[in-house]
Amino acid sequence: MARPPCSVGEVRPPPEGGLVEVRDGRPVAPDNPVVAYIEGDGIGPEVVNAARQVLDAAVRKAYGGRRRIVWWEVVAGSKAVEVCGELLPQATIEAIRTAKVALKGPLATPVASGHRSVNVALRRALDLYANIRPVKYYGQPAPHRYADKVNFVIFRENTEDVYMGIEWQAGSREAGRVREFLRREFGVDLREDAGIGVKAISRFATQRLMRKALRWAIEHGNRVVTIMHKGNIMKHTEGAFMKWAYEVATTEFRDYVVTEQELYEKHGGRLPEGKILVNDRIADNMLQQIIVRPWDYEVIVTPNLNGDYLSDAASALVGGVGMAAGMNVGDEVAVAEPVHGTAPQIAGMNKANPTAAILSGVLLIGEHLGWREVKEVVEEAVRRAMRDGKVTEDLAIHMPGATPLKTDEYTQTLIDYIESM
Ligand code: ATP
Repeated sequence: MARPPCSVGEVRPPPEGGLVEVRDGRPVAPDNPVVAYIEGDGIGPEVVNAARQVLDAAVRKAYGGRRRIVWWEVVAGSKAVEVCGELLPQATIEAIRTAKVALKGPLATPVASGHRSVNVALRRALDLYANIRPVKYYGQPAPHRYADKVNFVIFRENTEDVYMGIEWQAGSREAGRVREFLRREFGVDLREDAGIGVKAISRFATQRLMRKALRWAIEHGNRVVTIMHKGNIMKHTEGAFMKWAYEVATTEFRDYVVTEQELYEKHGGRLPEGKILVNDRIADNMLQQIIVRPWDYEVIVTPNLNGDYLSDAASALVGGVGMAAGMNVGDEVAVAEPVHGTAPQIAGMNKANPTAAILSGVLLIGEHLGWREVKEVVEEAVRRAMRDGKVTEDLAIHMPGATPLKTDEYTQTLIDYIESM
């Protein structure tokens, strides 16, 4: 196999594959799409390689020899340092831009080394503005009584909000100047020893996210899209997010949606057949709602920080990080990755649960590229593994009587289920 590209000049996709194209905002895949992958750090190589094997088996099962994935390795993180001498080669970014679809393992963020997170750098470089996280139950051991009723998808804004890192340390010259400016221009008094941060949320970023969420809802036949915000307190950021999100719904998607207000004013509280209800929930209430009434939610759209809290809380309902899949999407490019990190304590021990990486691959191939049969086959295999107690250690400890499987044994179990379908 060719060495991963280290310089932009070396970015040449495998010749046996075809490239995914984007037409009218939608990816169009050939029968042999090139899919870039990054093994990542820690348990990354174990879970990503498990995911590739399971996806290959599912594609074989679903399409015989008619379709196949052509994997293209590109590097970031410690392997990139080893192979190319840098953490995130420009060639990797260019390669993903070329392939338009990638599966990525977790990458370690070197602590206090002055490096920005490689994950964040990659997301920024490719403008992957929507973070999509399905929260779904497959029969895994879960702490929640209603776990089997949990089935929603979170669309988290990925580029703005307090995540932009615009903040100044208490006592710094910059904080002093900002404080002075606010006092002089706006008569706002802040304590001298206050750290100061800026929260920015734009109409542009809000609306492109909402568009993606509504398109998803239409394509999946969802009945409700919920805007999560803290607009009662932060009127011009979170409140504006809500307003702008509704605006997209009631202008660009007018024929598809009914707002909560219209539901009661015009439809007597009953959602007309074929329509999508667009409602909103205050962030703190939303965190309660997913626990007490998870069945009411299907697609949730939210700014960056709320989305962070919500997706962790939600994945805990259905058994935690070993199962949580994610995908970061822009207008052209999609990069799927498990939600969990590098788990260095168990790296290289053949113990990691690869399900999150496998289900991330399903998001990429089964959802984003539209190979629905792959999704069905893999999800069914995961359900059977859970049913039969054939799971990795992280889940087995919660299942009385289950013997934990190694990563490779679990992977083979899934492949066996797939082949026997
Ligand atoms: P990083 O520092 O890269 O974020 P992390 O391991 O500290 O990595 P998480 O991914 O949040 O961060 O993981 C928390 C813990 O959950 C890990 O330490 C590990 O014990 C466990 N864990 C995470 N992912 C998996 C997995 N796929 N399989 C088994 N255990 C996992």
